[in-house]
Amino acid sequence: MVVFETSGFIDSHSHLRASSLSSQGIGQCENLEEALIRFSAMTAVDPYDEALVACSELILGGVTGVQFMFHVFGDKEQYQRQLAEVLRGVYDSGIRALAILGVTDQAEYLPTSFSGQSPLPKWTEPARGLSGTELGEIYEWAKSHYPSLEFGIGPVGPQWCSDGLMEELGELAAEGMRIHSHLLESPRQRKWESENPLDRLDRFGLLGPKTSLAHCVWCNDQELNTLAEKGAQSVTCPGSNRILGAGKANIEAWSESGVQFGFGLDSSAEEILPIEIAELAMDRDSALEALTSGGRSCTDLETHLDTVTWADEELTRCLEVWIDGKEMVSEGALQDAEKYQAAKERISHTLFEDRANREGRIAELDRAMPNYQRELDSCLG
Ligand SMILES: [Zn+2]
Repeated sequence: MVVFETSGFIDSHSHLRASSLSSQGIGQCENLEEALIRFSAMTAVDPYDEALVACSELILGGVTGVQFMFHVFGDKEQYQRQLAEVLRGVYDSGIRALAILGVTDQAEYLPTSFSGQSPLPKWTEPARGLSGTELGEIYEWAKSHYPSLEFGIGPVGPQWCSDGLMEELGELAAEGMRIHSHLLESPRQRKWESENPLDRLDRFGLLGPKTSLAHCVWCNDQELNTLAEKGAQSVTCPGSNRILGAGKANIEAWSESGVQFGFGLDSSAEEILPIEIAELAMDRDSALEALTSGGRSCTDLETHLDTVTWADEELTRCLEVWIDGKEMVSEGALQDAEKYQAAKERISHTLFEDRANREGRIAELDRAMPNYQRELDSCLG
């Protein structure tokens, strides 16, 4: 039998969600702001199970390295408790990972210029309370507990962090860890805060060769040139951009600008088919490059030491995966399939149990949506 071999792929932008968007009642969204608020109606599942299942499914799809944005609303204690469970799941899966500890403290669902009564249900209001200094403490804790994983930090989006928090992140970044953030995932984000989001990263010392930025759908030529000049990388997420209504990145302009870029699934794929999804935006050779060397430029993960064998030339059916000399998948099945299956079943059970409540939350959002969109348009012009 002819088999095809590649190095391990890198998913350069993930949130390690294990349940598909459709199983959470999220369909095609009209714009990103609709999608983001709909995420808040999702059923929360056990964080260990979720991380283990998400990483295991990436491995089954030939992905041996992942950069993921960890973020939960809440104070230091809530953040660290949940992070500990996620890291345990990532570690147990055996994937290579760069965990980005993300943070926000302003304007998550309504722009900074918004004043007045929120059109959104009360339960969507984000809990806050994690300072930059505390994030630094958690970063140190995580590094010492999981020396085999890589860690970085970042604003979840520059427009969602106050000047004070951005300044604290800039001070932490002086240590030289990797930085990751979402950037211009929607046209509205350009005016979400009074300052251009890319300038905002730069002003606080968060834009350099160790910075990768997810989506960048709405970056203009000048912004792409700035990214290239600073040696920062971008990550395109064509599958997610489509389903979440973010738009379509102009990959030709990215290539012309000379910016290095990787590819991300953004936890939005119904099935982990990295090459096929990357090919929504680019040809086969560029897709392979974005998934391998491009991903390495975004993460520094050593996936070139991993091998994946495929049953088909299209690279959609994965037969074997080796990570750092260890066999993870053989004959298309995980080595530790039992643990994965059990976690997957617990997640399905939680989704089933919460179904009526989730549908209630979704119905509330459906009712609030027209008003929410109107408010956004009126304060963003
Ligand atoms: Zn994302």
